Amino acid sequence: MHNIALLGDEAVALGSLHAGISASYGYPGTPSTEILEYLIAEYEKGGPVARWCTNEKTALEAALGISFAGRRALVTMKHVGMNVAADPFINSGLLGINGGLVIAAADDPGMHSSQNEQDSRFYASFAMVPCLEPRNQQEAYAMTREAFEVSERFHVPVLLRITTRLAHARAAVVLENPRDQNRLSKAPDSTQWTLLPLYARRNYEALIEKQTNIRAWSGVHEVNKLELTDRDRNFAVITAGLGGNYYEENLDDFVRFRGGAVPARLHIGAYPMPEALIQQVCEKAEQVLVIEEGQPFIEERLRGILPQKISVLGKLEGTLNRTGELDPDTVRKGLGLPQRSSMLTQGIVTVPSLPGRPPQLCQGCPHSDSYETIKQAAAGLEPLSITADIGCYSLGALPPYQGVESIVCMGASVGMAKGASDAGITYALGIIGDSTFLHSGIPGLIDAVEANAPITLIILDNSSVAMTGCQKPMIPSARLRELILGLGVQPEHLLELEAKKQCIEENAVLLREEIRHPGVSVALFKRECLEAARKRRS
Ligand code: SF4
Repeated sequence: MHNIALLGDEAVALGSLHAGISASYGYPGTPSTEILEYLIAEYEKGGPVARWCTNEKTALEAALGISFAGRRALVTMKHVGMNVAADPFINSGLLGINGGLVIAAADDPGMHSSQNEQDSRFYASFAMVPCLEPRNQQEAYAMTREAFEVSERFHVPVLLRITTRLAHARAAVVLENPRDQNRLSKAPDSTQWTLLPLYARRNYEALIEKQTNIRAWSGVHEVNKLELTDRDRNFAVITAGLGGNYYEENLDDFVRFRGGAVPARLHIGAYPMPEALIQQVCEKAEQVLVIEEGQPFIEERLRGILPQKISVLGKLEGTLNRTGELDPDTVRKGLGLPQRSSMLTQGIVTVPSLPGRPPQLCQGCPHSDSYETIKQAAAGLEPLSITADIGCYSLGALPPYQGVESIVCMGASVGMAKGASDAGITYALGIIGDSTFLHSGIPGLIDAVEANAPITLIILDNSSVAMTGCQKPMIPSARLRELILGLGVQPEHLLELEAKKQCIEENAVLLREEIRHPGVSVALFKRECLEAARKRRS
């Protein structure tokens, strides 16, 4: 046993290595990226297979193949990646998981680098599989290891849910001895992996039957900790994940300002929710405050568990902020403590203020030149619609470019442009990065080609998944042309342009011609991301 300082993401990575994984897969996305970065570095030193995949769905499907062979696999993604992986994820609950399968989903409350605040605990509940939610790096390590055991015990995948502040903060972790990898072992009855209706109905019944044992497991899990002794039983607090830390940070002030005993408390880190413990902590309570990071997952469900006379406080009711992250200050409000700003004026605490840093493209980024080209090419064309996608180039929606009218999810730019043209918009442009195109833009382009939709897809090919740390795209730029032609785009309507300042005017003329073409055209703007180039040279 020894100590090591790890990011929350790294603790998940090392926990999975020490749990004996044979492979890990994922798609980069903040705040989850560092999990697989760590495992890929280990793979390059001779560790288990670790690979970025085309998207989260293909990553989970590869992991299923590992599990069917009796071996353990980890899949990593950010919360919105769960939407992409949802098809195999929900279905995998119905399979008899063989080798342990763990999905680490990193949620981003506050949308530091995301398009929404969705909470992955809903997916675990939807799929009827266990979920573990660590509150510090030590738990991230230990719960990752445990998640594989639980997966093999109940033969279901397990969701490990972390959030930004845990993923990206570093703390000391005590490590346990690593476990060996599983041997290859195919199950005697592979019909449990075959979701034909005949078998799927049987498997679904088996999943329902498993719920009793899964609930019994979470109902007595040591992380679901009840604190009743010497507590105020009138006021109960239920915490989860980082909410537990923020609550504890305020306990000294709770005693100092409110006096008396601190509230009865239940901390939840293992789901399904431990209903008996919830009833116990609220047994004598008039009020219960729920402090959970993300959406009001626990709070919503309390109404079905507790009598109506107990008032439930939290995000739905308005005691805590409904959007954005929690922090020790916001939690103070729910606890009826004075805000630190008032304590500041009394000289009790000091809170440093930091300047805001609006996001912007790097100086000299190829996307700046591409946006300038697009602006010139589309000038005066009406009606015009420009849709865009997820990546550094999403900043094209902000000043000084403001050249984009819609950004929704990975790959959506292509379909939205096609829809705009179907709606009667004469000039419909989609803007997408090379990696996002491979992730989920290709099916949209197939649809557009099949319908001969008058759209222009602009692929900003910077040879990098730049926004998440310059990972390599799944295929090199040199093969994009043949891929696009293979989808049915006519060679005379596939432009390849250098995204350079000195080429803007010439490129704009060529692009304008393609925007006016009454069918599908694609413009590949090529220049390597500056950060990727720097990384490659270092
Ligand atoms: S990281 Fe690369 S793609 Fe992103 S803004 Fe900087 S130069 Fe542009």
